Amino acid sequence: MIRQFELVERVQAYDPTADEDILNRAYVFAMKAHGSQKRASGDPYFSHPLEVAGILTDYRLDGASIVTALLHDTLEDTPATRDDIRAQFGEEVSRLVDGVTKLTRIELQSDQAKQAENFRKLVLAMSRDIRVLLVKLADRLHNMRTLHPISDPEKRQRIALETMEIYAPLAERIGMENLKSELEDLAFAELNPDARNSILARLEFLRRQSGNAVPRIVGQLREVLTASGIKADISGREKKPYSIWRKMHRKSVGFEQLSDIVAFRVLVDSVEEVYRALGVIHSAYPVVPGRFKDYVSTPKPNGYRSLHTGVFGPKGERIEIQIRTAEMHDVAERGVAAHWDYKQGVGSTEGPEYRWLRELLEILEQASGPEEFLEHTKLEMFQDQVFCFTPRGDLIALPSGATPIDFAYAVHSEVGDTCVGSKINGRIRPLKVELRNGDQVEILTSKAQTPSPEWERFVVTGRARARIRRFLRAKEREQYLQLGRAILQKAFKEEGYEFTEKAVEGVLKAFKASNVDDIYASVGAGNHTGREVLETVFPGVRKRRLGQEKVVSISRARTRHSDRGKDSEFGVPIVGLIPGMAVHFAGCCHPLPGDRIVGIITTGRGVTIHTIDCSSLEAVADEPERWIDVSWSVSGVSADIHVGRVSLMLLNEPGSLGTISNIIAKNEGNISNLKIVNRSPDFFEILIDIEVRDVKHLTNVIAALRASPVINEIERARG
Ligand code: MN
Repeated sequence: MIRQFELVERVQAYDPTADEDILNRAYVFAMKAHGSQKRASGDPYFSHPLEVAGILTDYRLDGASIVTALLHDTLEDTPATRDDIRAQFGEEVSRLVDGVTKLTRIELQSDQAKQAENFRKLVLAMSRDIRVLLVKLADRLHNMRTLHPISDPEKRQRIALETMEIYAPLAERIGMENLKSELEDLAFAELNPDARNSILARLEFLRRQSGNAVPRIVGQLREVLTASGIKADISGREKKPYSIWRKMHRKSVGFEQLSDIVAFRVLVDSVEEVYRALGVIHSAYPVVPGRFKDYVSTPKPNGYRSLHTGVFGPKGERIEIQIRTAEMHDVAERGVAAHWDYKQGVGSTEGPEYRWLRELLEILEQASGPEEFLEHTKLEMFQDQVFCFTPRGDLIALPSGATPIDFAYAVHSEVGDTCVGSKINGRIRPLKVELRNGDQVEILTSKAQTPSPEWERFVVTGRARARIRRFLRAKEREQYLQLGRAILQKAFKEEGYEFTEKAVEGVLKAFKASNVDDIYASVGAGNHTGREVLETVFPGVRKRRLGQEKVVSISRARTRHSDRGKDSEFGVPIVGLIPGMAVHFAGCCHPLPGDRIVGIITTGRGVTIHTIDCSSLEAVADEPERWIDVSWSVSGVSADIHVGRVSLMLLNEPGSLGTISNIIAKNEGNISNLKIVNRSPDFFEILIDIEVRDVKHLTNVIAALRASPVINEIERARG
């Protein structure tokens, strides 16, 4: 354990003005408060806050943060109160400790909604003072370092997953590279120990095979630079297993070479020297094409600056080199903490480097619930970035895969909502094209444009998705409202009643609605039937009309019977249908629960449900009045069996059909039909209908088939 004087010395080493007294008091306060409490490892509990404080001294954080680290678990786990802390350590510390505690409290919950809620609170808390996040990250790092003694494997998994999905990306966002990679690697060890062990074994092999290549290359680089009068501090650092793993995944390659496992770092004195060193290295060794990146003139949004390049070294081996000044290196290692000294208002989140934080908050405000929020942000934080420019030269950073629509929303919500086209590097390009590094993007707008549901399928930023969803939700409600009103009018008329808004107003309470629009929308969405509303308004209706309505009643009773939940009136798990119309599933595209679907009205046949990308929809493209918006209801779907169709190219060899039917059966699918479309000497082209639960199930079956060597091509049939 770090002793009291050691902690004080560590802080004073970088901040001679630190308040020694408050550090000492916090040390004693936390030690006493935790008393004889123990951790899962059997260590005294106090060792934990102490180590967290120790981690933060590595980042040279201010006294208030260190004191907060010492006290961060006292509110949750000991009798100490916020008043005690305020009285002894002042308002600032008490506010910080309270912020960290609030997060810890909900962290202990396990389900998805709670995790999302936790993340939401985290964003809110750190939007006020970034130090809350720094203490939380150090807390998480120490908990991950000491994860092993926790005996419940599910709990370990949950903590590791949360670390991978939430805390590591947050650490990256604020530029704390080392902390991020350690968090990732510790989580990786828990989540996928086999993969990590195989990478470690391979690393060991490459290390042995390359002998002492690292010191040799460091020496040669030093020689080359010194000969040109450049003084540089050079080192070679092995990458962490997780970062190797991720790279292997992203580029689907194995790792073979030194450049895949070691990054060399050249630290020089000034920005000018950075570029000079690059020139010297590039003239001494052949350059590996496509590896050069200049984050010095275009820093990453988290403030990271460095040159990256790749060359073929003295023995022809590929070498990856990062060149930067000592100051840039400090930012690379310490992230936001490196800006501390220069900033007024410690912990303030006003500066441009916190734009991402303000954007997260904006998403938070627009998402309808914490899960949706988590979905948006997770997506965004996981991806690598591309850097694009506005026509005025402003830099816009986006996740890779981003489209002009993402770009438009990143510029301004209004621009996104009204965008109709884009010019990339001066040429008109489709809105769904993927942007590339360095693209100059001009967005064309029109006042008449509104966000299209189609956009949701290719945008990748949470910000764009949240705006589009919000718009579509409002529009959807408008449609449900009109539909619901029409359904009620019809239901009333059928029974010979006059439909009035006033009558519906009388039953608001019974439907827990605050106004009549809520009832219309609810009927339109299929949550209530028109009949239900009518019967509530006129309780005598059924009795009075029983004799005349016999046929109708029977058919209604049967429908009710087959109804699971309240999502649909028709025994079909689809929301948004028009009452009284027959429903069919299209034989061309075989829609499955989970697919995005659309209903097409066909005279005499009712409504046919197609997947939104079915090719047969082209035939009705210019008859918008036949299209109705429908979606799968959320409940009552999974028990049904649906038929999905896949088309595949199969090797024409003995046993290959048996192989695929085995794979399908193993994945709980059932072949209901099989048709050979084409037969050549080497391949069969086959259509197979498979009974599955939903689209996710079919996707699993397809993935399993794709992995089989007898299958050359496989995809879902689309009309
Ligand atoms: Mn803790």
